[in-house]
Amino acid sequence: MNLNTIKEIIRPSSADEIGQWRDGYAWLAGGTWLFSEPQFATDTLIDLDQLNWPALEASPAGLDIAATCRIAELYQYAGSADWPAMALVRECCDAFLASFKIWNASTIGGNICMSLPAGPMISLTVALEATYTLWPRNAPPRQVAGVDFVTGNHSNILQPGELLRSMHLPAAALSKRHAFRHASLTHLGRSAALLIGTRTANGDDFLLTITAATPRPIQLRFEHMPSAVELRRAIAERIPADGYFHDVHGSAAYKQHLTYHFAEEIRSELAGPGAHA
Ligand SMILES: Cc1cc2nc3c(=O)[nH]c(=O)nc-3n(C[C@H](O)[C@H](O)[C@H](O)COP(=O)(O)OP(=O)(O)OC[C@H]3O[C@@H](n4cnc5c(N)ncnc54)[C@H](O)[C@@H]3O)c2cc1C
Repeated sequence: MNLNTIKEIIRPSSADEIGQWRDGYAWLAGGTWLFSEPQFATDTLIDLDQLNWPALEASPAGLDIAATCRIAELYQYAGSADWPAMALVRECCDAFLASFKIWNASTIGGNICMSLPAGPMISLTVALEATYTLWPRNAPPRQVAGVDFVTGNHSNILQPGELLRSMHLPAAALSKRHAFRHASLTHLGRSAALLIGTRTANGDDFLLTITAATPRPIQLRFEHMPSAVELRRAIAERIPADGYFHDVHGSAAYKQHLTYHFAEEIRSELAGPGAHA
């Protein structure tokens, strides 16, 4: 839609060109959300496109994804054969309620900064233990664990003008075994629950990431594969009955049910030698 409050579009070639931040400014990534509804509080868009950050950079340490990398670019990226968890990229992208336009225009950073419970790029990067790099205005860059970035439905830790620059997925996480479960009330609809489990190859650890069912990602880390009872208890301790996210994509009770059901399926799938009975 046309945004008739916009008076200026700035296209910087470096983020440093935007020194002074003021009310009315907004970073523009793919624009799929920004242009989907009126933005009464915004009069200036600052387009990230000209920053020309390399979309994907692989190294022995892992994969760096620029915030401006598009969903379609990440989807097509195969990654190293040593990184079986790269398969999660396609599963998470496919969990997106995405038209052709969103698929090709929307960015990974834009999806994370929207901070919706059903943000599949949040699910992906948190499950793969990402560290996010943030560029505050007029202060040195800072790094945060991906799991700590989203604080609630459509809210996160970004300060005014702070830019999400990139997400680093460590090779250790990319080389893990994984299991993925996702449900939506409608075909290609927004997620009601999206859970991912990972486990070190030949290890007995277990990391469970719960998204979409809760307002923000919840992560449960176990040194040893838990029993079904231990897992249920850990979820109950971490997420109270009123801690599930109710919206048109599913009631809180339904999402709670899916969470327990998928968590146990994932646990069973990844359980192996060394797991408790
Ligand atoms: C029909 C439809 C369906 C949708 N379905 C979903 C869905 O299933 N799940 C979901 O999560 N979202 C959904 N969305 C919302 C949105 O389109 C997506 O979240 C999309 O990924 C946003 O990415 P973008 O690059 O287009 O962001 P933009 O629209 O450009 O920006 C989104 C917000 O993030 C800020 N921003 C963007 N990049 C940065 C950055 N690097 N640093 C700091 N701030 C930044 C912008 O200022 C803006 O506030 C949907 C939208 C529509 C219209």
